[in-house]
Amino acid sequence: MSEELTEAGGKTRLYVTGDLGDGAGVALDEGQTHYLLHVLRAKAGNFVSLFNGRDGEWLAEITEAAKRGVTATCRQQIAGQHGTPDIWLAFAPVKKTPSDYLVQKAVELGVSVLQPVFTRRTIVARINEERMAANAVEAAEQSGRLDVPEIRAGISFDKLLAFWPTERRLLFCDEGGNAKAMTEAARESRGGPTGILTGPEGGFDPAERAALRALPFVMPVSLGSRILRADTAALAALAIWQSIAGDWS
Ligand code: SAM
Repeated sequence: MSEELTEAGGKTRLYVTGDLGDGAGVALDEGQTHYLLHVLRAKAGNFVSLFNGRDGEWLAEITEAAKRGVTATCRQQIAGQHGTPDIWLAFAPVKKTPSDYLVQKAVELGVSVLQPVFTRRTIVARINEERMAANAVEAAEQSGRLDVPEIRAGISFDKLLAFWPTERRLLFCDEGGNAKAMTEAARESRGGPTGILTGPEGGFDPAERAALRALPFVMPVSLGSRILRADTAALAALAIWQSIAGDWS
Protein backbone atom coordinates (compact mmCIF):
# COMPACT_ATOMS: atom_id res chain seq x y z
CA MET A 1 0.00 0.00 0.00
CA SER A 2 1.54 3.25 -0.93
CA GLU A 3 1.26 6.96 -1.40
CA GLU A 4 -1.13 9.58 -0.07
CA LEU A 5 -4.85 9.53 -0.55
CA THR A 6 -6.40 12.24 -2.69
CA GLU A 7 -9.93 13.53 -2.76
CA ALA A 8 -10.19 13.47 -6.50
CA GLY A 9 -8.68 10.21 -7.52
CA GLY A 10 -7.17 7.64 -5.28
CA LYS A 11 -3.43 7.23 -5.77
CA THR A 12 -3.56 4.50 -3.18
CA ARG A 13 -3.96 1.19 -4.99
CA LEU A 14 -5.21 -1.80 -3.04
CA TYR A 15 -5.40 -5.43 -4.10
CA VAL A 16 -8.65 -7.07 -3.05
CA THR A 17 -10.06 -10.53 -3.64
CA GLY A 18 -13.75 -9.60 -3.95
CA ASP A 19 -15.52 -8.88 -7.25
CA LEU A 20 -15.34 -5.34 -8.63
CA GLY A 21 -18.04 -3.69 -10.71
CA ASP A 22 -20.20 -0.57 -10.89
CA GLY A 23 -21.64 0.06 -7.44
CA ALA A 24 -19.99 -3.00 -5.90
CA GLY A 25 -19.11 -2.49 -2.24
CA VAL A 26 -15.83 -4.04 -1.10
CA ALA A 27 -15.01 -4.61 2.58
CA LEU A 28 -11.27 -3.98 2.99
CA ASP A 29 -9.21 -6.28 5.19
CA GLU A 30 -7.81 -5.44 8.63
CA GLY A 31 -4.42 -4.35 7.36
CA GLN A 32 -5.92 -2.14 4.69
CA THR A 33 -8.41 -0.66 7.18
CA HIS A 34 -5.61 0.17 9.61
CA TYR A 35 -3.52 1.75 6.87
CA LEU A 36 -6.33 3.89 5.54
CA LEU A 37 -7.69 5.02 8.91
CA HIS A 38 -4.50 5.43 10.93
CA VAL A 39 -1.78 6.12 8.41
CA LEU A 40 -3.64 8.01 5.71
CA ARG A 41 -6.37 9.32 8.02
CA ALA A 42 -8.90 8.45 5.34
CA LYS A 43 -12.52 9.32 5.76
CA ALA A 44 -15.79 8.69 3.95
CA GLY A 45 -15.76 10.48 0.62
CA ASN A 46 -12.07 9.81 -0.10
CA PHE A 47 -11.16 7.55 -2.99
CA VAL A 48 -8.87 4.55 -3.47
CA SER A 49 -8.12 2.41 -6.51
CA LEU A 50 -8.98 -1.27 -6.27
CA PHE A 51 -7.88 -4.21 -8.43
CA ASN A 52 -8.39 -7.97 -8.06
CA GLY A 53 -6.64 -9.56 -11.05
CA ARG A 54 -9.95 -10.16 -12.85
CA ASP A 55 -12.06 -7.01 -13.21
CA GLY A 56 -9.53 -4.33 -14.12
CA GLU A 57 -8.98 -1.33 -11.85
CA TRP A 58 -11.77 0.68 -10.25
CA LEU A 59 -11.90 4.05 -8.58
CA ALA A 60 -13.78 3.37 -5.36
CA GLU A 61 -15.25 5.81 -2.88
CA ILE A 62 -14.83 5.11 0.81
CA THR A 63 -18.46 4.85 1.87
CA GLU A 64 -17.83 3.56 5.39
CA ALA A 65 -14.78 4.44 7.45
CA ALA A 66 -15.18 2.92 10.89
CA LYS A 67 -12.81 1.13 13.27
CA ARG A 68 -14.71 -2.10 12.66
CA GLY A 69 -13.89 -1.83 9.00
CA VAL A 70 -13.70 0.24 5.84
CA THR A 71 -15.98 -0.31 2.86
CA ALA A 72 -15.22 1.16 -0.56
CA THR A 73 -17.81 1.31 -3.31
CA CYS A 74 -16.76 1.10 -6.97
CA ARG A 75 -17.65 4.24 -8.86
CA GLN A 76 -15.70 4.16 -12.12
CA GLN A 77 -13.54 1.64 -13.98
CA ILE A 78 -10.20 3.28 -14.73
CA ALA A 79 -8.51 0.34 -16.50
CA GLY A 80 -9.76 -2.79 -18.21
CA GLN A 81 -8.18 -6.10 -17.13
CA HIS A 82 -5.14 -7.08 -19.10
CA GLY A 83 -2.74 -9.85 -18.23
CA THR A 84 0.98 -9.81 -17.76
CA PRO A 85 3.18 -12.03 -19.96
CA ASP A 86 3.32 -15.70 -19.10
CA ILE A 87 6.77 -15.94 -17.53
CA TRP A 88 7.56 -18.12 -14.51
CA LEU A 89 10.53 -17.71 -12.21
CA ALA A 90 11.81 -20.79 -10.39
CA PHE A 91 14.48 -19.70 -7.94
CA ALA A 92 16.51 -21.25 -5.20
CA PRO A 93 15.67 -19.09 -2.19
CA VAL A 94 18.53 -17.14 -0.70
CA LYS A 95 18.85 -15.31 2.64
CA LYS A 96 15.87 -13.22 3.79
CA THR A 97 16.68 -9.74 2.51
CA PRO A 98 17.80 -10.74 -0.97
CA SER A 99 14.75 -13.04 -1.18
CA ASP A 100 12.42 -10.20 -0.23
CA TYR A 101 14.17 -8.04 -2.81
CA LEU A 102 14.02 -10.77 -5.45
CA VAL A 103 10.27 -11.28 -4.98
CA GLN A 104 9.47 -7.56 -5.08
CA LYS A 105 11.57 -6.90 -8.18
CA ALA A 106 10.32 -10.00 -9.99
CA VAL A 107 6.74 -8.78 -9.44
CA GLU A 108 7.65 -5.33 -10.78
CA LEU A 109 9.25 -7.09 -13.76
CA GLY A 110 5.97 -8.85 -14.53
CA VAL A 111 6.56 -12.43 -13.43
CA SER A 112 3.38 -14.55 -13.46
CA VAL A 113 4.46 -17.42 -11.18
CA LEU A 114 7.05 -17.48 -8.40
CA GLN A 115 8.25 -21.00 -7.63
CA PRO A 116 10.83 -21.41 -4.84
CA VAL A 117 12.95 -24.54 -5.43
CA PHE A 118 15.25 -26.21 -2.88
CA THR A 119 18.43 -27.41 -4.59
CA ARG A 120 21.25 -29.39 -2.99
CA ARG A 121 23.23 -26.26 -2.15
CA THR A 122 20.28 -24.13 -1.02
CA ILE A 123 21.20 -22.96 2.47
CA VAL A 124 17.74 -21.62 3.33
CA ALA A 125 15.79 -24.38 5.07
CA ARG A 126 12.34 -22.97 4.49
CA ILE A 127 10.65 -20.05 2.79
CA ASN A 128 8.06 -17.85 4.43
CA GLU A 129 5.27 -18.04 1.85
CA GLU A 130 3.09 -15.57 3.72
CA ARG A 131 5.91 -13.02 3.64
CA MET A 132 6.45 -13.72 -0.03
CA ALA A 133 2.75 -13.17 -0.76
CA ALA A 134 2.68 -9.90 1.20
CA ASN A 135 5.78 -8.65 -0.66
CA ALA A 136 4.18 -9.64 -3.95
CA VAL A 137 0.93 -7.78 -3.21
CA GLU A 138 2.81 -4.66 -2.14
CA ALA A 139 4.96 -4.71 -5.27
CA ALA A 140 1.89 -5.26 -7.48
CA GLU A 141 0.09 -2.33 -5.86
CA GLN A 142 3.15 -0.07 -6.24
CA SER A 143 3.97 -1.09 -9.82
CA GLY A 144 0.51 -0.54 -11.28
CA ARG A 145 0.03 -4.21 -12.18
CA LEU A 146 -3.57 -5.37 -12.40
CA ASP A 147 -2.79 -8.79 -10.97
CA VAL A 148 -0.58 -10.48 -8.41
CA PRO A 149 1.63 -13.41 -9.45
CA GLU A 150 0.87 -16.88 -8.21
CA ILE A 151 3.12 -17.74 -5.26
CA ARG A 152 3.76 -21.48 -5.14
CA ALA A 153 4.90 -23.56 -2.20
CA GLY A 154 8.60 -24.43 -2.21
CA ILE A 155 9.47 -27.76 -3.80
CA SER A 156 12.59 -29.90 -4.22
CA PHE A 157 14.75 -29.68 -7.33
CA ASP A 158 13.77 -33.21 -8.35
CA LYS A 159 10.05 -32.41 -8.02
CA LEU A 160 10.50 -29.21 -10.03
CA LEU A 161 11.84 -31.19 -12.96
CA ALA A 162 9.43 -34.08 -12.53
CA PHE A 163 6.34 -31.86 -12.57
CA TRP A 164 7.56 -29.18 -14.99
CA PRO A 165 5.08 -28.81 -17.90
CA THR A 166 7.19 -30.00 -20.83
CA GLU A 167 5.58 -27.55 -23.27
CA ARG A 168 7.08 -24.72 -21.19
CA ARG A 169 10.68 -23.94 -22.09
CA LEU A 170 12.92 -23.66 -19.02
CA LEU A 171 15.78 -21.16 -19.35
CA PHE A 172 18.37 -22.53 -16.93
CA CYS A 173 20.73 -19.75 -15.82
CA ASP A 174 24.02 -21.61 -15.86
CA GLU A 175 27.08 -19.69 -14.76
CA GLY A 176 29.19 -22.70 -15.69
CA GLY A 177 29.48 -21.50 -19.30
CA ASN A 178 28.77 -23.39 -22.51
CA ALA A 179 25.33 -21.78 -22.60
CA LYS A 180 23.40 -19.63 -25.04
CA ALA A 181 23.31 -15.89 -24.45
CA MET A 182 20.12 -14.95 -22.62
CA THR A 183 19.23 -12.52 -25.42
CA GLU A 184 19.29 -15.30 -27.98
CA ALA A 185 17.36 -17.66 -25.72
CA ALA A 186 14.72 -14.99 -25.12
CA ARG A 187 14.36 -14.50 -28.87
CA GLU A 188 13.94 -18.24 -29.39
CA SER A 189 11.40 -18.53 -26.58
CA ARG A 190 9.29 -15.65 -27.89
CA GLY A 191 5.62 -16.54 -28.17
CA GLY A 192 5.77 -19.68 -26.06
CA PRO A 193 5.32 -20.41 -22.36
CA THR A 194 8.64 -19.87 -20.62
CA GLY A 195 10.25 -20.21 -17.23
CA ILE A 196 13.58 -19.02 -15.83
CA LEU A 197 15.59 -20.97 -13.25
CA THR A 198 18.31 -19.57 -11.01
CA GLY A 199 20.38 -21.31 -8.37
CA PRO A 200 21.42 -20.51 -4.79
CA GLU A 201 24.50 -18.73 -3.51
CA GLY A 202 26.53 -21.92 -4.03
CA GLY A 203 25.21 -22.59 -7.50
CA PHE A 204 23.92 -25.88 -8.91
CA ASP A 205 25.92 -29.02 -8.20
CA PRO A 206 27.26 -31.09 -11.11
CA ALA A 207 24.51 -33.72 -10.86
CA GLU A 208 21.81 -31.04 -11.00
CA ARG A 209 23.49 -29.35 -13.92
CA ALA A 210 23.70 -32.66 -15.78
CA ALA A 211 20.06 -33.49 -15.00
CA LEU A 212 18.94 -30.12 -16.35
CA ARG A 213 21.02 -30.34 -19.51
CA ALA A 214 19.60 -33.78 -20.27
CA LEU A 215 16.03 -32.48 -20.55
CA PRO A 216 14.65 -31.45 -23.95
CA PHE A 217 12.67 -28.50 -22.58
CA VAL A 218 15.69 -27.01 -20.78
CA MET A 219 17.84 -24.36 -22.43
CA PRO A 220 21.04 -23.39 -20.54
CA VAL A 221 21.56 -19.63 -20.74
CA SER A 222 24.45 -17.33 -19.93
CA LEU A 223 24.25 -13.90 -18.32
CA GLY A 224 27.79 -13.02 -19.31
CA SER A 225 31.17 -13.90 -17.91
CA ARG A 226 30.82 -12.40 -14.46
CA ILE A 227 29.26 -14.37 -11.61
CA LEU A 228 26.08 -12.59 -10.52
CA ARG A 229 24.45 -12.90 -7.12
CA ALA A 230 21.35 -15.08 -7.25
CA ASP A 231 18.92 -12.18 -7.01
CA THR A 232 20.84 -10.16 -9.58
CA ALA A 233 20.79 -13.11 -11.99
CA ALA A 234 17.06 -13.69 -11.63
CA LEU A 235 16.25 -10.05 -12.24
CA ALA A 236 18.71 -9.64 -15.09
CA ALA A 237 17.28 -12.70 -16.85
CA LEU A 238 13.71 -11.46 -16.33
CA ALA A 239 14.57 -7.98 -17.63
CA ILE A 240 16.18 -9.37 -20.77
CA TRP A 241 13.25 -11.72 -21.35
CA GLN A 242 10.70 -8.94 -20.88
CA SER A 243 12.51 -6.62 -23.26
CA ILE A 244 12.78 -9.26 -26.02
CA ALA A 245 9.88 -11.65 -25.53
CA GLY A 246 7.64 -9.94 -23.01
CA ASP A 247 5.65 -6.71 -22.85
CA TRP A 248 8.50 -4.24 -22.98
CA SER A 249 8.93 -4.49 -26.72
N1 SAM B 1 28.45 -21.01 -8.81
C1 SAM B 1 28.60 -19.59 -8.54
C2 SAM B 1 30.01 -19.28 -8.14
O1 SAM B 1 30.88 -19.89 -8.71
O2 SAM B 1 30.25 -18.43 -7.27
C3 SAM B 1 27.62 -19.14 -7.52
C4 SAM B 1 26.19 -19.19 -8.02
S1 SAM B 1 25.49 -17.63 -8.39
C5 SAM B 1 25.82 -16.73 -6.96
C6 SAM B 1 23.76 -17.96 -8.19
C7 SAM B 1 23.01 -18.31 -9.46
O3 SAM B 1 22.90 -17.17 -10.29
C8 SAM B 1 23.63 -19.35 -10.33
O4 SAM B 1 23.33 -20.66 -9.88
C9 SAM B 1 23.00 -19.06 -11.67
O5 SAM B 1 21.70 -19.62 -11.73
C10 SAM B 1 22.93 -17.55 -11.66
N2 SAM B 1 24.06 -16.91 -12.32
C11 SAM B 1 25.00 -16.15 -11.73
N3 SAM B 1 25.86 -15.67 -12.64
C12 SAM B 1 25.46 -16.14 -13.86
C13 SAM B 1 25.93 -16.01 -15.19
N4 SAM B 1 27.01 -15.25 -15.49
N5 SAM B 1 25.27 -16.65 -16.18
C14 SAM B 1 24.18 -17.41 -15.90
N6 SAM B 1 23.67 -17.58 -14.66
C15 SAM B 1 24.30 -16.94 -13.64
